[in-house]
Amino acid sequence: MDAPLFPLFADLNGRAVLVVGGGTVAARKVEALLDAGARPRVGAPRLVPALQALADAGRIDWLRGAFSPRWLDSGIWLVVAATDAAAVNRAVADAADARRLFVNVVDDARLSRFHVPAVVERGPLRIAISTGGAAPMVARHVRRRLETLFDSAWGQLTELIGRRRDGIRAHFTDLAARRRFFDHLLDGPVLDLLRRRRPAEAEAALQQAMADTPPAAAGSVVLVGAGAGNPDQLTLAALRALNQADVILHDRLVGAGVLRLARRDAERIAVGKSARGPSTSQEQIHALMLEHARAGRRVVRLKGGDAFVFGRGGEELQFLRAHGIAYEVIPGITAALACAAHAGIPLTHRDHAQQLRLVTAHCRDSLDTLDWPALAAPRQTLVFYMGVAALARIQARLLEAGLPAATPFALVENGSRSDQRVVSGTLRQLADSALRHDVRSPALLILGDVAALATDLHWFGAAPLPAADDAPSPSLPTPPTTLADAA
Ligand code: SAH
Repeated sequence: MDAPLFPLFADLNGRAVLVVGGGTVAARKVEALLDAGARPRVGAPRLVPALQALADAGRIDWLRGAFSPRWLDSGIWLVVAATDAAAVNRAVADAADARRLFVNVVDDARLSRFHVPAVVERGPLRIAISTGGAAPMVARHVRRRLETLFDSAWGQLTELIGRRRDGIRAHFTDLAARRRFFDHLLDGPVLDLLRRRRPAEAEAALQQAMADTPPAAAGSVVLVGAGAGNPDQLTLAALRALNQADVILHDRLVGAGVLRLARRDAERIAVGKSARGPSTSQEQIHALMLEHARAGRRVVRLKGGDAFVFGRGGEELQFLRAHGIAYEVIPGITAALACAAHAGIPLTHRDHAQQLRLVTAHCRDSLDTLDWPALAAPRQTLVFYMGVAALARIQARLLEAGLPAATPFALVENGSRSDQRVVSGTLRQLADSALRHDVRSPALLILGDVAALATDLHWFGAAPLPAADDAPSPSLPTPPTTLADAA
């Protein structure tokens, strides 16, 4: 796979651009170049009437005749080959390459040194879309979507801000304050006023937004749940927080795909805790939050799943509150929900489970303090977090407490991600199955009759892997009566 194209907007104002070809395709290119203020020179033996008219009006220069490489030698900045003869187009591309001039060959991505993107134009706002020549249809489709997302008011807004730019910069010398002003502005009524064709009121609203935005930054922390690793699970609120962040303190479970969606120049600090490799202590995390918030930055504390489900979010808020730092909490999709959904396991089901327990199996202490008889009760679903290392002990304790050995389980490894694996079986096979399939963290254990539904309801990634021994895999517990007997 070739390296991707470098996106670029070129200033062609007053610059000579050679267009080889005199047909309708060349005419379209010439028109776009004229719009950008370029001075097209069109080389061709004949011109279609539209080009002829432009030549007659003195808006383009006509180089009459067959292509000659000399056409590229007189102050040309850019070259477009738009003839219908492949050999001529290739000759133009070769001549341009030899002179290190950027060339676009119409409909030939391979010969082109620059591509012309699909564009959404809203006054000075231009959104360019490219697929690197791979799939122009996709680019056109994306453009149609953007056309509906960004109406003409966006062009007027861009124009308005452009006109007031110097004033805004002078008013907000601090970059963070300026960013807050723009967020405030774009959330406010300006766009709507422009849509309603009230430019004077829009100006006034902009003036008001400048007055409203406090000049000194007050730092804050947003506790954000990032979901189980698949970026599609971010909420709109999480995405907004990521776009406004100055600093992101993120856990190890937060994947690269999520971090890529954050504001480009936000500082990213990994503060993961892990059994292996370097870890950051909870005290160090607290100290980092405090340091950056006190420096007036917007800190996003980004956690896997939800911050309040086995995420120590509570401790972090208590610390922030004790130190007078403002905070917000944005919920995320916790691993139990993400894994269940992507494994096809309804956590509750009128026929099988009326309650759901989220359990941590993190440390030996927690295994000892758990209420095992309650966990062995019928008609419920158990979800164990952080349990990979403790599966044998979980299995033993549950059997001891009286949970039937035939209770179905599903182990979901890397749930909702492209490398998701699901292992299913019954309680007596649990530890052996995990060993056989080498199940690793992060993985979630779902126990209860609903776990067997994965065999039929799975839809994401591969089908569940079978348990350790050759015993028939747990059949779908359809008639509820049989199930009640089993429990
Ligand atoms: N706050 C997080 C949980 C943190 S504890 C949340 O709400 O999801 C970490 C545990 O979550 C892991 O040991 C694992 O059991 C579970 N987990 C997190 N992401 C997971 C994933 N993509 N697949 C399976 N389990 C996951």
